[in-house]
Parts: sequence; C-alpha cells; structure tokens
Amino acid sequence: MRFEKYIRPQNFEEALQILKSDQNSVILGGTTFLRLSDRKYSTGIDLSDLGLDFIKEVNDQIEIGAYTSLRKIETDPIINKNFGNLLPKSIENLIGIQFRNNATIGGAIFGRLGFTEIITALLVLDCELEFEENGKVDFNEFISNWNIKRDILKKIIIKKKQGKSSYKMMRNSSADFPILSVAVSNFDTIKIAVGTRPSIAKLSEKASQLINSDNNKINEAVNLITDEFKFGDDLRAGKEYRKNIAPILVKRALQEVLI
Ligand SMILES: Cc1cc2nc3c(=O)[nH]c(=O)nc-3n(C[C@H](O)[C@H](O)[C@H](O)COP(=O)(O)OP(=O)(O)OC[C@H]3O[C@@H](n4cnc5c(N)ncnc54)[C@H](O)[C@@H]3O)c2cc1C
Repeated sequence: MRFEKYIRPQNFEEALQILKSDQNSVILGGTTFLRLSDRKYSTGIDLSDLGLDFIKEVNDQIEIGAYTSLRKIETDPIINKNFGNLLPKSIENLIGIQFRNNATIGGAIFGRLGFTEIITALLVLDCELEFEENGKVDFNEFISNWNIKRDILKKIIIKKKQGKSSYKMMRNSSADFPILSVAVSNFDTIKIAVGTRPSIAKLSEKASQLINSDNNKINEAVNLITDEFKFGDDLRAGKEYRKNIAPILVKRALQEVLI
C-alpha cells in the first residue's frame, strides 16, 4: 500500500468530506490488511485523533470504538464479563499478539473478509454499527448487504444479554487462517452463525427456527446446516470437508449453550 498524502483529521466532518470527495482516498485502520496490497491511494486518512479507541458500558449496552485493537477486546474485563469468552475465542488464534495489537475491530469489520472470525461471533449478538454518514445500521444487515461502501465506522454497539454463547473453529494449524468458524448464542433465542465457508459468515434461519421450537431437536437442527449454507473450496480445505465438519461444530456449540 502506498499513498501520496497522509491526513489526520481533527473532526468527523473533515474526515468524511475527504473520503467522499476523493474516491481514491482510504481510511487507515491498523493497516494489517491494507499493507498487503501494492495499490496506490491518493490520501491515507488516519482517524487516531478522533477518540475511537475505547470499550465502555453505557446503560444496557457495550460500546467498542472502531480503532480499538483486537488484543484489547480479547483481554478486556467488560467484554469477558458480559459475553463470556465468545469474542476472545474468535480473536485469539489470529497470527500473534503483536498483530492483534495492531489490527482494529473497525478494519476487521469493514474489511468484510470471509475468514474474519469476529464477524461470525458478532452475528450471534444483538449488535449495531454506528457510521458517521449512515448513522446506526444493524450488524447483520451490513454484513449481508454490503451496501455501505464509503463511510466512517465509529463504533460497535452490543446489547448486554443474560445467557450462554459458544465459538468453535477449525484450522489446519495454530495461527493459520481458519477453514470454518461457528458461533452459537442462547440469549432470548438461539442464534447460529457459520462463517469461513470460505465466504463471509451468515446467520442460520432454518436450523435456528427448529431448535428454538424444540430444544431437544439438536440432531434434526444440525442436519439442516448442510442444506442451508453453501460451502466452497480454497487452498486450505475442500467443500466436502467443510460440509462434513460444519454440523459437528454446530452440534458441539449447541450442546454447550443448551446445558
Ligand atoms: C496475514 C493476515 C492473516 C489474518 N488471519 C486472520 C485469522 O486467522 N482470523 C481472522 O479472523 N482474521 C484474520 N485476518 C483478518 C484480520 O482480522 C483483518 O484483516 C484485520 O483485523 C484488519 O484490521 P486493520 O485494522 O489492520 O484494518 P486495515 O487493513 O487498516 O483496513 C481494512 C479495511 O477496513 C477499512 N477501515 C478500517 N477502519 C475503518 C473505519 N473506522 N471506518 C471505515 N473503514 C475502515 C480500511 O479502509 C480497509 O478497507 C488476517 C489478516 C491478515 C492480513
């Protein structure tokens, strides 16, 4: 990644104005992903002065600033107290601590990569994103529709809920990319998300509906997973392999949240 100009805006209006008026400008997160490409941008926009590095409890919700590092989320007591180990588990295998100190949650979400595990985990929480221009947007809506291309992600807002959650993944070796990711929560209702198929994570409709109608129907619900989701091949795993392990991971996660 190269850019001709580096800018550190002092307010959101200025940052958005540059982003919208110059289609070849780019928001810089931790740049862990951006720097892998040799694309040349006109302007790199650094939001470090805009106070986006925070995790706080606000009434019945937790707010995470977009510039918060994945490592901070992994180790934060507020996150651990409220959502158990769901979010830390979805982060802890990502390369190494130095990398996770650098990568931001805003970059992880906005990058919308199929193998980004925290996207799978956030889908089973009650989660909204707050953008400078588009305001509040449901997390599932943002991930499913990809309709916001140029805006500033300011924070992630997660409703506090009582209940259980579980995160499961499969990777060939520690610190490699995952080959499948599964998250299940049991708060007001049971939610199941399957990601890294290798495409981006998605919420289950049919299996979730069945298990919510009868908590004893774990096997029947799990059998719906392979019909409901599309699986594919990549360098790390084949479609058939993913199809075989997805129901197993979903079953293990469901058993944990239903105990
Ligand atoms: C080598 C490598 C291995 C990886 N392995 C894994 C893995 O095993 N598991 C996993 O879950 N993930 C993995 N990832 C994905 C990783 O989680 C994300 O790429 C990373 O977190 C991106 O964060 P960043 O802050 O560096 O984003 P950047 O690279 O800075 O930005 C990514 C994108 O987000 C945009 N952006 C950043 N911040 C904002 C904002 N506030 N508002 C709007 N747009 C914004 C940027 O413009 C860019 O388009 C891997 C990535 C790499 C590069």
